[in-house]
Amino acid sequence: MADIKSLTREELAGQFAAWSQPAYRVDQLLHWLYVARATSWDAMSNLPKSLRQQLQEHYTLQPLELVRTQGAGDSTQKFLWKLSDGAFIESVLIPANPGLDGEASDRHTLCVSTQVGCAYACKFCASGLEGWKRNLRVEEIVEQPLAAERGHAQPTRAPAGVMPEGMADKRFRVQNEPPPSGLAHPASCDAHPEPGSFRPASRLIQNLVIMGMGEPLANYENLLKALRILNAPWGGGIGARKITLSTSGLAPQIRRLADEPLQLRLAISLHGATDETRNRIMPINRRYPLRELTAACEYYQQKKERMITLEYILLAGVNDDLKETRPLAALAHRLKAKVNLIPYNKVEGLPWERPAQQVQEAFLAALQKRDVTATLRREKGHDIDAACGQLRLRTQRELARSLV
Ligand code: SAH
Repeated sequence: MADIKSLTREELAGQFAAWSQPAYRVDQLLHWLYVARATSWDAMSNLPKSLRQQLQEHYTLQPLELVRTQGAGDSTQKFLWKLSDGAFIESVLIPANPGLDGEASDRHTLCVSTQVGCAYACKFCASGLEGWKRNLRVEEIVEQPLAAERGHAQPTRAPAGVMPEGMADKRFRVQNEPPPSGLAHPASCDAHPEPGSFRPASRLIQNLVIMGMGEPLANYENLLKALRILNAPWGGGIGARKITLSTSGLAPQIRRLADEPLQLRLAISLHGATDETRNRIMPINRRYPLRELTAACEYYQQKKERMITLEYILLAGVNDDLKETRPLAALAHRLKAKVNLIPYNKVEGLPWERPAQQVQEAFLAALQKRDVTATLRREKGHDIDAACGQLRLRTQRELARSLV
């Protein structure tokens, strides 16, 4: 049975027409799903009971289940969700992150996962440690910002043995943020709104970065459909220019993305500016070496006239030698890209380390001297395992320990 949040407005309209329902009912339903963030059919009080019954017989309405949250001193928050098949995924809520898109912002960004696990096995990353399980379905991607906004407003309880002491019943409040408007008055959709006319004035999450667990471009169809829903004025209402997709470098899918009408921002997890360095840490580079990746990025850049970001994790003794700034700068110039330097977040059980602060600053300065637009991310959420896959890994290990 399909989930209701995997459908576009057009598909819902087709279904409602087939059921001889008036067209305005579609917008009432959309209001319940994307503004009120309803989690049950019963809540949809202005839909006739018979229609609610019919919807329930044909579609699921499955919210993500929050099992654990972690908050950092700088109020970055990590959510661990349990899916209907028992798998875990994460999303991270970041209050403002100018380093990600180059513009100052007091808004919130949500880092979204696209797969359970990851098949690409970058050597430094926690997500791939336990392999790839499956692609996320459309609604499991669409639900992440909705559930994070819901979780932000409501307390939750964790199952025994999962939540660390002191975290149970924690309220998910982010400082200085009123509860999302629209939440309190779902009945206002009685007025048969036009699509887009019911968008609340301010939402908690204004930006998405597709940088959570998984390789987004390996779940292309589901992700693109989810992003169309999250971007639509009748859906998530998040501007395409406020969505950044990060890939480890699947060259053919980058070209395909360039041909889509959706104007997404693209970030490339480069982490090495020569095949030699990249081969050491990213197996994907053997399939799509830098020559191919660069050509695909050039195609994207020309097609979209959009600035690409090159992400570069600084790993001590691997890619932090100043001589690496030369090929990196050449690549950045060729792609008209900016470079985002990210100090490595230590992963338990992996041997990699972040370089000392002076080394990071020297690397940044060397790039800037070569006329590259570059930033050094002064990490938010370092203290909450913000790098992808880390909370999930830890919870799985704790669960495994509690079972023996
Ligand atoms: N698979 C996609 C998106 C998920 S990873 C990609 O590779 O882009 C999101 C980003 O986090 C990538 O740049 C990835 O290399 C980086 N990352 C993974 N583990 C990290 C760690 N321990 N510290 C810092 N960044 C990390």
